[in-house]
Amino acid sequence: MNTEKSTEMFSVAGNLMPGGVNSPVRAYRAVGMTPRFIDRAKGCEIYDVDGNAYIDYVGSWGPMIFGHAVPEVVEAICGAARRGTSFGAPTEGENLLAQMIIDMVPCAEMVRLVNSGTEAVMSAVRAARGFTGRDLIVKFEGCYHGHSDGLLVKAGSGLLTENVPTSAGVPKAFAAATLTADYNDRESVEKIFKEYGPNIAALIVEPVAANMGVVAPKPGFLQFLRKITAEYGTVLIFDEVITGFRLAPGGAQEYYGVTPDMATLGKIVGGGMPMAAYCGRGDIMSTVSPSGPVYQAGTLSGNPVAVAAGLATLKKIREDVGLYDRLEEKGRVLEKAFTDAIDRYKIPACINRVGSLMSVFFTEGPVETYGDVEKSDLTMFKKYFASMLEDDIYIAPSQFEAMFLSDAHSQEALNRTVRAIDRAFSTLP
Ligand code: PLP
Repeated sequence: MNTEKSTEMFSVAGNLMPGGVNSPVRAYRAVGMTPRFIDRAKGCEIYDVDGNAYIDYVGSWGPMIFGHAVPEVVEAICGAARRGTSFGAPTEGENLLAQMIIDMVPCAEMVRLVNSGTEAVMSAVRAARGFTGRDLIVKFEGCYHGHSDGLLVKAGSGLLTENVPTSAGVPKAFAAATLTADYNDRESVEKIFKEYGPNIAALIVEPVAANMGVVAPKPGFLQFLRKITAEYGTVLIFDEVITGFRLAPGGAQEYYGVTPDMATLGKIVGGGMPMAAYCGRGDIMSTVSPSGPVYQAGTLSGNPVAVAAGLATLKKIREDVGLYDRLEEKGRVLEKAFTDAIDRYKIPACINRVGSLMSVFFTEGPVETYGDVEKSDLTMFKKYFASMLEDDIYIAPSQFEAMFLSDAHSQEALNRTVRAIDRAFSTLP
């Protein structure tokens, strides 16, 4: 495969940006390869600057539920941009999008639009602290909630890929206000609440962990979190930056039937543009400035172009009653391809899938906790990744990221992927 131009561009980038990239996992360090510089994408295909075409399962790390360059979304973006790209003043589009989120997401009584998932989580946590008058928060090891100081503690995903469990540069005092429990382990949560319960402002969780690879909540785990947080007057925040609008129109909270007090949304809500949101109970959201004392603001918040992309995407989701069934079916096809290959070549691996999110782990399984994830053989992952890329299948260059299916993945694309999975596993271990 010719990667001449990507190689040249990456070498130039190395002198311009740390590691040559604007977000670490893009650098392909964990797999020891050259990242592809992307020229364009359409539907389920992504094209690099050397003219290689790949079937894309990164999907910009989650937003592209309908695939790339969706005509309605592109039209909405162009139409909005022609009317001006930013006003720093309220627009009707923000009303429409906030109403759409409130109609779709069970916990959303009020919404605030921001620019990234990091900002959404940081702001939701601040609102929870302001509302409760408490300082401590609880998160789960291996769950990622963006790169704000207090949430970069044992934070999965990119940090795991780069082998830095907790970021340098986070003051000890900030990290000390973050307590970490074990995902899917009730006892670890009970222990923390017994000791610190009355001082815990918020418990934040990815309802489906998707930043240590995909790990589903055990039956009853989310219900348990709902119960224990209610008992202690702690705000339960579902970080639905990945799961929001992906598992169901109302996200994981609809999918699992558990309503948190607040939720953070990102990725799909912005239709591929830089936008995110936090939302939740009216009494908590009302603490946010200017209606309350919790300050949060943004020059580009509610940006009209991003709002137009988000609105077009959510409208398409609402109008498409068969969407989630189709995604489930496509997910089943790939899951079967993985289980068949695991059986055929007797590879110590297992596949975790929730709807259109999935991960293969190179360990016998089941993978239900962060401890299980850690058993995955990263050398085997590397080999698997290289083989998939060689067959033009573009997946995340990390064991700790999800594979994202979109509605644009055609039967033909899935068939090619099934063949690539079989070939990749035939070369292992
Ligand atoms: N929360 C979750 C669950 C995420 O997966 C991410 C990013 O991947 C974030 C928060 C941070 O979002 P952003 O990268 O938009 O800041």
